[in-house]
Amino acid sequence: MNSGYTAQSVPQGKTIAVIGAGIVGICCAAYLVREGHRVILYDRRGPGETTSFGNLGGVQSLAATPLSLPGMLKDVPGWILDQEGPLVIRPRHFPRAAGWLWKFWRESSLERVLHNARALNALNSHSATSHIELAKWAGVSDLIQVPGQLYVWVSRKNYEKAQISRKIWNSSGHDLIELNADQIGELEPDLGRRFEVGLNIPGNGYCRNPYRLCVAIADKAIAEGVEFRREEVNGFVLNNGGIGAVQTDRGVQQVDGVVMAAGMWSKRLLASLGYSVPLESHRGYHVTISSAKTTLSRMLMVIDRKVAITPMETGLRIGGTVELAGLDALPDYRRARSFLSIGASLLPGLDTSMATEWMGHRPQTPDTVPIIGKTDRIANLFLALGHGQMGLLGSAPTGRLIADLVAERKPYIDVTPYRIERFSR
Ligand SMILES: Cc1cc2nc3c(=O)[nH]c(=O)nc-3n(C[C@H](O)[C@H](O)[C@H](O)COP(=O)(O)OP(=O)(O)OC[C@H]3O[C@@H](n4cnc5c(N)ncnc54)[C@H](O)[C@@H]3O)c2cc1C
Repeated sequence: MNSGYTAQSVPQGKTIAVIGAGIVGICCAAYLVREGHRVILYDRRGPGETTSFGNLGGVQSLAATPLSLPGMLKDVPGWILDQEGPLVIRPRHFPRAAGWLWKFWRESSLERVLHNARALNALNSHSATSHIELAKWAGVSDLIQVPGQLYVWVSRKNYEKAQISRKIWNSSGHDLIELNADQIGELEPDLGRRFEVGLNIPGNGYCRNPYRLCVAIADKAIAEGVEFRREEVNGFVLNNGGIGAVQTDRGVQQVDGVVMAAGMWSKRLLASLGYSVPLESHRGYHVTISSAKTTLSRMLMVIDRKVAITPMETGLRIGGTVELAGLDALPDYRRARSFLSIGASLLPGLDTSMATEWMGHRPQTPDTVPIIGKTDRIANLFLALGHGQMGLLGSAPTGRLIADLVAERKPYIDVTPYRIERFSR
């Protein structure tokens, strides 16, 4: 498959600090080192050990539906009162999340939804090809599979209600194949006739082990010259309208440029540079069931139950939910455990005896669109953050964009919709 990407050597390599070795920072580091830059990748933990460790592995070229949709405001009381629903706000956190929720609501008009969907589609439609190319470079082609993806609905009524999502999918230029209960069962026998309607999306795929993908790309990037430093970045030295040096718990490093890819923690680091970034942690949970025996051959999005199910190499992973409780509150693993019963109801006979549970922080913007690009105020600061629920799939396309911007060449797609300055309008 043609990825459309060819590494280009840069006349004079720059010293670039990439902050954050989640999948986004790792992909940025990989594309930058391939172009001849000196790259220093910082993380206080090992590569891929934070949010990028436990996602559901979706590598979808069709991933264009924003979270904020018309009519959402009426759901807010339910999110606070039903603490076991798929989307909850812990009451104590509500005052802190209120500003972000207001901005989120403002993105729910049809006009904004379609605008945001176009921005997501422009970036994410490069997801599968970019990931296939990068995984091949890192020697882990086996990890990216593109067998299609199945969206399913327990009830046809719910499918019919999803009018705006269907409008976005139909206008995205991707193939969609509608299936009835029999056809779903033929495609994936483990599902029987449990779902009334499904959509098969041929261009979508998944990663069989998101953590191993992070480690493999990071290892290859390190072999190609990236310096990985297990250090905590805690400040910047500014000079001449740019960042002259990065300060960590171990010392100071002079740099020509900085890529901010610290996921949800970018908010605090950017505040120290005078930026107020509307990021909210959408805490999500998973269980990975190593005892599960299933013939499922593709990632499944059970849209009207708001869960995703992926056949990982480590077991069957079931996850989802959004919990607004901030960065510091302890995980509530009852939310993860609820996936065991949902899984058993959707896949009868599922052996759930051996399972691990996990929670991670999706860095979510109010418009669902990530923040990518150069900033107006600090000339050599590049942003690669805020990918929310689409950070794995958006990571490789983002790394390509950052490499274009650092090299000061025309980016392969228009970066205007991703710029941080959109929030100051
Ligand atoms: C349940 C769940 C399911 C998901 N499923 C999918 C999916 O199917 N497909 C998909 O595309 N996305 C999915 N996501 C979203 C995806 O996991 C995230 O968007 C993505 O991992 C974000 O990557 P990141 O590199 O931006 O952040 P992270 O992985 O959080 O990495 C940021 C890194 O920055 C480091 N850091 C922070 N501050 C500092 C500092 N001061 N100094 C040094 N290092 C620092 C952290 O230690 C961390 O390692 C899911 C998320 C969840 C929770």
